[in-house]
Amino acid sequence: MPALRAVLPGERIHVWPDIPDPAAIDVALVAQPPAGALRPFANLRLIQSLWMGVDGLLADATLPRGVPLARLVDPGMLAAMSETVLACVLDWHRKHYRYRAQQRERRWRPLRQALASDRTVGLLGLGELGRDAAAKLAALGFGVCGWSRRPKALAGVECFAGEDGLRALLARSGALVCLLPLTEQTRGILNTEAFARLPEGACLINVGRGAHLVERDLIAALDSGHLAHAYLDVFATEPLPADHPFWAHPGITLTPHVAALTEPRTAAAVVAENVQRVRRGQTARDLVDLASGY
Ligand code: NAP
Repeated sequence: MPALRAVLPGERIHVWPDIPDPAAIDVALVAQPPAGALRPFANLRLIQSLWMGVDGLLADATLPRGVPLARLVDPGMLAAMSETVLACVLDWHRKHYRYRAQQRERRWRPLRQALASDRTVGLLGLGELGRDAAAKLAALGFGVCGWSRRPKALAGVECFAGEDGLRALLARSGALVCLLPLTEQTRGILNTEAFARLPEGACLINVGRGAHLVERDLIAALDSGHLAHAYLDVFATEPLPADHPFWAHPGITLTPHVAALTEPRTAAAVVAENVQRVRRGQTARDLVDLASGY
């Protein structure tokens, strides 16, 4: 809130649910409000998400569909997500997940190393996050390929689209990173069929949404030894229930949905830009296409 007030000194900012006159509110800043929370605001001109993913907002049938919805494209979040992806890829590439297991057994056993150029990282999603991660992985010398809905050409990235493209990407990807939005087309995309197409010893990094992953399929792929390791930041149920098998699975490293948190120091300026665009009667940036669901 202090960051927002600093960049929007002329605006009156109220914090829900303490809002004296909902009809006077024209911009709603929201993360994951309870279903129906936006209903009393009859004169909205912009709904600005404070998260990059808007699947939770779109799941609310009462979300006013006629009001432009902008998602947050925050430079601090972009940097954080690429750092998370690099941390996971390097953990797998440098075999730290195996050294951690060896340490638990007090076992001194050097493993053969690979060069970054021996590896190919496949990115599902070449949007704001996927493109930033792709450039940083390529700078470290990894082969990089990526998959998007519409065909793309990106320097240093082998780009794929469509069902055939997905199969081609999976066959190349020693590390598979999910940076897709959750839509009806992408739900459950990380499943047995996809895992079977990955090379033996591949790792999965899911930093998209929990519902991209079919959980039992992952456990089977890890237990069979086909997948070497999985890095999971997002889950079908969050917080992850205490009795969930992922907690204790030796093939899983998990984090509590922190791959990229909204960073007020960088996000405030982006939000302010959109509020100012509304004030000037201009179209907001980073609008969600309701038809495609992201
Ligand atoms: P974005 O800019 O909207 O990019 C989405 C990418 O996915 C685009 O390349 C898009 O293709 C592709 N895509 C969408 N549907 C597809 C389909 N059916 N088939 C193939 N490709 C498809 O999104 P972003 O900003 O990069 O964010 C991606 C997601 O990351 C968010 O939606 C959110 O769920 C997740 N996220 C997670 C965290 C965390 O902390 N774990 C933080 C932030 C975001 P086109 O380029 O052709 O449109």
